[in-house]
Amino acid sequence: MAKVLKCGDLMPGCNFVAEGKDVAEVMAKGAEHAKTAHGMSSIPPYVAAKVQAAIKDK
Ligand SMILES: [Zn+2]
Repeated sequence: MAKVLKCGDLMPGCNFVAEGKDVAEVMAKGAEHAKTAHGMSSIPPYVAAKVQAAIKDK
């Protein structure tokens, strides 16, 4: 099932939405977005956990 992550759930005011065929693809897109848009060069484990919790079925 396709997955979707709304960055605004984690970063209020951000309207980026990552979609992918699975969690791994959404995480990869989310990590790239976090790097380019939010200046996070790496994703700390506690952030990764929040991101995973925010990924929903599409
Ligand atoms: Zn964002």
